[in-house]
Amino acid sequence: MTIEFEAPKPVEQARFLLQSVADNMMRPVSREMDENEHAIPFGYIEFMHSAMKAMGSITAGSLTTGEEKIADDPNKPKRASIAYQVLANQLEMLSWGDVGMYLITPGGGLGAAAVQAAGSPEQRKKFLARFNEEKPTFAAMCMTEPQAGSDTSAIRTRAVLDEKTNEWVITGEKIFVTAGEKSFTEHAEFGKGFIVVWASIDPSAGRSGMRSFVIEAGTPGVRINKLENKMGIRVSDTAAISLDGARVPFENVLGSPTVEKNTAGFKGAMATFDATRPLVAATGVGVARAALDEVKKMLAEQGFNIRYGLPRQKLTSNERDVIDMEIMVKSAWLMVLKAVWMADNKQPNVLESSMSKVKSGDIVTRVTQKAVEILGPLGYSREFLLEKWFRDAKITDIYEGTGQINRLVVARQILGYSGAELR
Ligand SMILES: Cc1cc2nc3c(=O)[nH]c(=O)nc-3n(C[C@H](O)[C@H](O)[C@H](O)COP(=O)(O)OP(=O)(O)OC[C@H]3O[C@@H](n4cnc5c(N)ncnc54)[C@H](O)[C@@H]3O)c2cc1C
Repeated sequence: MTIEFEAPKPVEQARFLLQSVADNMMRPVSREMDENEHAIPFGYIEFMHSAMKAMGSITAGSLTTGEEKIADDPNKPKRASIAYQVLANQLEMLSWGDVGMYLITPGGGLGAAAVQAAGSPEQRKKFLARFNEEKPTFAAMCMTEPQAGSDTSAIRTRAVLDEKTNEWVITGEKIFVTAGEKSFTEHAEFGKGFIVVWASIDPSAGRSGMRSFVIEAGTPGVRINKLENKMGIRVSDTAAISLDGARVPFENVLGSPTVEKNTAGFKGAMATFDATRPLVAATGVGVARAALDEVKKMLAEQGFNIRYGLPRQKLTSNERDVIDMEIMVKSAWLMVLKAVWMADNKQPNVLESSMSKVKSGDIVTRVTQKAVEILGPLGYSREFLLEKWFRDAKITDIYEGTGQINRLVVARQILGYSGAELR
């Protein structure tokens, strides 16, 4: 195995294009979007939809498109896919621009990632094709409930098969659904999206009884109850959704419609997270790098440059802090690269996936906090974006498994314990 630190051409091309998106379409409206929570930047969404169609993949859900494009390129020798690597770079760059806006980039997001991980080839074809159609389209994944976050075995949403009509009837409460509103409400500007809802088809079977269901936008019996008012990523809509006897076609269940004596049902969710955790980690690295770059720029404008190469004891405290921030950002990024490299090479990456998320969640909160600290009042002022990135950072450590939960996953993997033995 050889280790190359030179980015492959598709990665460089994607970064080049998205740097310009970040500079010209994200940063100029970042503050306005933060101050007007739930405002929708239609210009950005439409531009990204066209760009995504041209480039292949931008979000986790459209991964196959990118993979196929790269693998099918007749000019390239047959080699392992680099689709995840490209995607991680895209997400890092977009999040450097504005992580909240990245979260409303059209495409399938977590919803499509769930279809990708747990759906049959027919379901993938049926539900994922819409993201390449004329209008920008969204999808979301609804797992969290008021009593079930980290502990997903506490999910109470129920799906019961009505054998007369051959439909699933789903009832329950879902909270904190990223892009839930854009995915479920039918907007004239957007295509018809969907939400993927996790429910139990047999509560006595515990996790083995969990299945996910694709619910099309506008389905009767589903209601958006509220949009969260949040600390950070305020441009991203986070919805609370109730389901009251929502009827879903039989074929919309992802995975087997019957309960087996193993945890197959929940494996779909875990496969989704193995795929997406390094990508969430990449977004955290992007935010951390944004804060680091800004600190270096603002210090340089005031005549302070980092004197790399001097012994540590000869550096000022600010120089040491900035160098430490750089070490944190680079080491987190290397962990992301390892996790996505393993995914691209079809190697099991549960450990590396969770490790990269833990690391990124840690460093992005520390780096953005340090950035505010170093710049003092300028860091705290709303005139600059440092205070916003400080608020945007924390979510990296909350969704798709909190820092504590991912540490448990890492510990189980290293020590060889099962979920039941170490929780
Ligand atoms: C902005 C935002 C967007 C989100 N988007 C989505 C989405 O799209 N879809 C979705 O389904 N969910 C989403 N979530 C929900 C998110 O995944 C959950 O908030 C997260 O999993 C934590 O669950 P919880 O909120 O119930 O917290 P809890 O599970 O109650 O945890 C509270 C605290 O206890 C800690 N803790 C819990 N169990 C343990 C343990 N065994 N050992 C040590 N510590 C523990 C946690 O780490 C945390 O610090 C989103 C949340 C937010 C804030």
